[in-house]
Amino acid sequence: MHIRCLEMQRKKGSSATCKSDDGRTVKKSKNGAPSTCPYLSTQRVQDLRDLSLSQVVDVESLIPMGREQQACPYYSSRSALADAQLIVVPYATLLHRSTREASGLKLQNSVVIIDEAHNLLETISSIHNVQVSCSSPIFALYFCINFKYDR
Ligand code: SF4
Repeated sequence: MHIRCLEMQRKKGSSATCKSDDGRTVKKSKNGAPSTCPYLSTQRVQDLRDLSLSQVVDVESLIPMGREQQACPYYSSRSALADAQLIVVPYATLLHRSTREASGLKLQNSVVIIDEAHNLLETISSIHNVQVSCSSPIFALYFCINFKYDR
């Protein structure tokens, strides 16, 4: 997801409309840009989710599928998480709690397989690494006292 997506979702209430690339009528903002993403149709997102659950797809193939179905691949993949039997994610998504929770990934009752495990320790170290500057000793001391390990 990107900033423009969030901006479009925040701008609601505009009654003016414009035509999307495929000729459909969509709401637009004051500057003329569509205020909602034309790919954020609940039905088409669900259809793409169902399609992605019926076959093995990766992110690269989900994007053209979303373009073809005119449905958001991001929200489709997110809604497919609950029913997916195999989910492949980068280390950072798996190991960093905030990222994992933001992705809607739940590990309870799951089997986790770590590929390329020889990189695991280095990745964990880099994910949970914090650099504290000595130029601000009071801040560094405060940070060390209040540091909570985010698993
Ligand atoms: S395609 Fe999906 S992620 Fe992209 S702007 Fe539309 S709703 Fe947002």
